[in-house]
Parts: sequence; C-alpha cells; structure tokens
Amino acid sequence: MEEDLEPEKKRTRGLGTKVATSRPRATALTTVPQTQGQTAVPKVPRKTGPRCSTAVATVLKNQKPGPAVPAQKPGTTAAPPVVGRKKPSKRPAWDLKGQLCDLNAELKCCRERTQLLDQENQQLRNQLREAQQQATELGAERRTLEEELARMRAQAEQGQRELGNLSARVLELEERLGTQEGLVQELQKEQLELQEERRGLAARLEEQEGRLQASEAALSGSQAEVASLRQEAAAQAALLAKREERLHGLEMERRRLHNQLQELKGNVRVFCRVRPVLPGESTPPSGFLLFPSGPSGPSDPPTRLSLSRSDERRGTLSGAPAAPTRHDFSFDRVFPPGSGQDEVFEEISMLVQSALDGYPVCIFAYGQTGSGKTFTMEGGPGGDPQVEGLIPRALRHLFSVAQELSGQGWTYSFVASYVEIYNETVRDLLATGTRKGHGGECEIRRAGPGSEELTVTNARYVPVSCEREVEALLHLARQNRAVARTAQNERSSRSHSVFQLQISGEHAGRGLQCAAPLSLVDLAGSERLDPGLALGPGERERLRETQAINSSLSTLGLVIMALSNKESHVPYRNSKLTYLLQNSLGGSAKMLMFVNISPLEENVSESLNSLRFASKVNQCVIGTAQANRK
Ligand code: ADP
Ligand code: MG
Repeated sequence: MEEDLEPEKKRTRGLGTKVATSRPRATALTTVPQTQGQTAVPKVPRKTGPRCSTAVATVLKNQKPGPAVPAQKPGTTAAPPVVGRKKPSKRPAWDLKGQLCDLNAELKCCRERTQLLDQENQQLRNQLREAQQQATELGAERRTLEEELARMRAQAEQGQRELGNLSARVLELEERLGTQEGLVQELQKEQLELQEERRGLAARLEEQEGRLQASEAALSGSQAEVASLRQEAAAQAALLAKREERLHGLEMERRRLHNQLQELKGNVRVFCRVRPVLPGESTPPSGFLLFPSGPSGPSDPPTRLSLSRSDERRGTLSGAPAAPTRHDFSFDRVFPPGSGQDEVFEEISMLVQSALDGYPVCIFAYGQTGSGKTFTMEGGPGGDPQVEGLIPRALRHLFSVAQELSGQGWTYSFVASYVEIYNETVRDLLATGTRKGHGGECEIRRAGPGSEELTVTNARYVPVSCEREVEALLHLARQNRAVARTAQNERSSRSHSVFQLQISGEHAGRGLQCAAPLSLVDLAGSERLDPGLALGPGERERLRETQAINSSLSTLGLVIMALSNKESHVPYRNSKLTYLLQNSLGGSAKMLMFVNISPLEENVSESLNSLRFASKVNQCVIGTAQANRK
C-alpha cells in the first residue's frame, strides 16, 4: 500500500510545490518548507484502490506531463507503475461480465477521483484567484513601493541638492567667515591705532587744557586791562571831544586870521607877470624891462617893474636921441619872465583857499593878445604838468584842502561851469553833442526870484570831485574853442573865458554852511585898434569886436572903481562880463588881477596901457570882505 501511495505522494508534493510558488508575496519571499505545502493540499483518500490510482495517474499524466513528475533517482531501476503491477489477474476473455464489473468499478472509482480532482481543481482555482488577487495587491503594493521609492529617490535627490546647496552655503559662510576674520583683524588693528590716537589726543587735550588755563588767566588779566583801557578811552574820548571843540575854534580862528591876512594884503590885488621872449622873437634892448629889488634887497620877492620907452618924437635940440622915458610901476607882486607856474600859484594858493572859507574869489588875467593870459590861467601846450596853469592847480589845491577839512567834519561839493563872452554874447564852452562848437544862446539869469545867485541858461554845470574830471572839462573847452576858431579867426583872444566853480561846504555836526564862487577869468586881448587903419569890411567887424571888448574891460575897471569908491550905483549891467561876475566882485569878494605883459619892445605901448589900467585897479580897496556864512 505504501508503494501505491508513493506516486500519489510525489504528485501531491509536486502540486504542493506548484501551489507554493503561487503563494502570497509574504510567503513567497521566504523559503517555504515542503511540509507546509503538503499540509495545504487536501489529502487524497487512501482508500482508493490500485486501479483507481492508476487511472488518476494516467489522467494526471495526460494532464501535466514532464516537469510535474519528479525525475527518478538515478540508480534506481525503473519499476513498472504500481497500478500495472497490482492489477488483479487478468480475467479470461470470456469473463466479460467480470471484466465489465471491473470496468464499472474502475469507472466508479474514476468518477470519484474526478470529483475529488474537480474539488481539488476548484480549490486550486480559488487558491490561484487568491494568489492572483495577492499578486494584484502585491503589484499595487509594488507600485506604491516604487512610487515611494521614486519619492524617496526624489527626496534623496532633493536631499542631495540641499546638501549641495548647504555645502555651497557652508563654503560661502566659510569664505565670509574668512573675510569677517580679516575684517576683525583689520578692526583690531584699527582699534589699536585708535587707541594710540586716543592716547595722543588725550595728551594733546591735556596740553590744550593747560594752555587754556594759561589763556584764561591771561584773558582775565586782559579783561582787567581792557576795563582800564576802556576807562582810559572814555577819558581820551572826552579829551578828544574837548580837543575837537578847540580845533574847531582854532579852525574858525584860522579862517578869521586868514581872512584878515588876505585883507591886509588887499581885497583887490594886482600881480604883474612878464612872459619870456619866445623863440623867433627879437630880444628887447637891455634895460627895456627892469625888476628893481625890494627894500630888503634881492631876497625880497619883486614888486616893482620899470619899463623904458624911447620916444622918437621927443628929439633934443642938438639932434641927439632923447633919453628913454622910464615908467615905474609897483604891484602886490611882479613875476619876471623866468617865474614858473608853481611859483605863481604858490602866491595865490592862500587866496584860493579863502573860497573854501566862504569868500568869493575872482582872478583875472588882463593883457594884450599874446602876453600870456591863457598860459597863466590854463597852462602851456602839451599837457606838461610843469606848465599847468592856475585853473588845474587851484582845483587840485581845493580838492586836497577839502579832503583835509573832511577830517574836521566839513563836506564840500564843487560844481564847474565854463563860458565864453564874445561880442556880448555868452556861449557854453562845456557844450557837448550837437551844441558842441556852437553852443546855443545862453543868458545870464537869477537862479530864482529874489535870489542873489546867477546862472547861465543852456550852460552845463558839472559836479567835479577830482583832477581828472577837471582835466576832461578843460580839454572839452579847448576843443569847443578850436571849432569856433575855424569859424571866426582868433576868436578866443577876442573873447572872455570865465571858468566858475561853485563851492559849497557843510559842517553837519555844527549845522554850519558856507558857499562861494571861485571865478578864473581869461580876459579878451586888451589891445586897441590902430586908429590909422583903413576900414574895410573885415576891419569894421574887428572894430565892433574891439569896441565890445574895450567897453567890457572899461566897464570892469569902472565897476572896480565904483566898488572902491563905495558908490551907490555899481554899473554891473553895463557888460555881460561884470553882470556875470557881480557876485565874485564887490564887498565880500577877494579879487586878484594878473596883468600879463609882453617882454617885446614892439608891444611897449600896449604894455604901458595894461600897466596903467592895472595900476588903477591896484589903487582900489574894496570893502571888508564878509564870508558867505549861514
Ligand atoms: P594870450 O592868452 O594872452 O593871448 P598866450 O597865453 O596864448 O597869450 O601866450 C602866447 C604865447 O606865449 C604862447 O605860445 C604861450 O605858450 C607863450 N607863453 C606865455 N606865457 C609864457 C610863460 N610864462 N612862459 C613860457 N611861455 C609863455
Ligand atoms: Mg589867450
């Protein structure tokens, strides 16, 4: 029986093995012992007979060939199948019934066996389904696991990346750490330096504090000194005020004395100036002009002049030439031909200064044409400062004295005008633009109703404060005269040029004011017309000119005489010149006349006329000058 069961056992084991392969994953992953498979397979009933076993074996053989059957052990002789060997002895051919019975029994057995096998099959199918289900589950699980794996991989990659980033960051941080360390080192170095500096500064501070203390000590000393200086300054200021007061008193006294001196010198003074012989002119005989010394000898400034005239008409009976007639003249001052402009000005500078003190001053240059009037007043040609005339010198002097007086609280202003009186018409020499050279008609008028002040209409009144401005005005006047000269021959010598400077001074601190005109007049040539001259049309004109000049010059003489004689009527109105100058003449004025003389013998007659006229003037004494003070 055990022998019969053997193939069955083997087959079952074979199935068991097969089944075991389709077990769920958990068991499949582990090695399953054979016995387990055996226990899982339902046991085939052992009651099955040999035939039945043979049939099943056959069926099984047909169903699963080859691999399901375990290979025979080598060495063992192939034994005939158990069914074959245990087969009951063959029924005789005739025993058909027995054979049929056998066959039925075998069929029955086979059927049972089939049933069993179906059951087993069913079980196996179930198991297969289970296994498939398990496989599906396992597949799903595998996919999950794979996903998980992928996720884990992704996570790992992410981790790797993060790791990479982190290591980069670590590197960066290490680098930064390195820099920071460098920085720290630098800062430490700097700190050391700063500490060093701090020590230095502390030392300096200490030193400064020491110095400050010393300074404070010095300051307190200085403050005490300042206080005492302030006291001293206050005392000085009081003294200064007293001195200023005294100075002012002295200044007023100076003005009074100055004026007294001028008055003692005479309110009408006459200076005679003889010009030198010019190149090309015939030298006069010796003794023609003499300048006798004063009582104190040659050291005295000359005041006398002698002119010798030989009179051909007065011959002696013996036929010998008559002794020349000597004409002696005495003036306030005589300037021989060698006298320079500076020498002349020095003599009049004090007089000019009187104008600043408020006294009207008038200076004339009288003489025949070519005697040196313009040279004396304006200066020589070429702008040489050595030959500068009285006008520029007087103005420079006034500006400088006004500047000095400004230190005593005086403020001065100067306004200049320059006109020409020709044939009793007034023309502006400072005209510019279209009026230049022609000058519109100018009229002499009172500045206002009831005003003493005179003004020339249409004439320019130019404020001046420095030499340059005066130079420009003189230049302009020369230009204007030059233009006129081309129109009418030598008109300049036939006209009076009147330069006037209105001087106004103010002492604001003391409420004092003074104003006076300074007039510098270059008179027209005083020569007479030769009465024997034939009267052509040119000469007639010339005669008219000369009459006008002579008339105005004699009016000037008459005015001076009238003033000197204190006559009630002074004929100012008889000529434009005296009318214009009325405020510069008269009671409160100081007058100086230059009589210019030609050194030439041929001019002796005119020289004598001039000297006689001047002598008359020199005899005049005009009132006591009063300063125009307010
Ligand atoms: P006036 O104006 O009286 O007609 P000027 O002043 O024009 O005369 O003088 C005539 C000439 O004599 C000019 O050439 C001038 O330079 C010259 N002259 C006049 N006076 C002097 C002097 N003191 N020294 C040198 N030259 C003089
Ligand atoms: Mg002249």
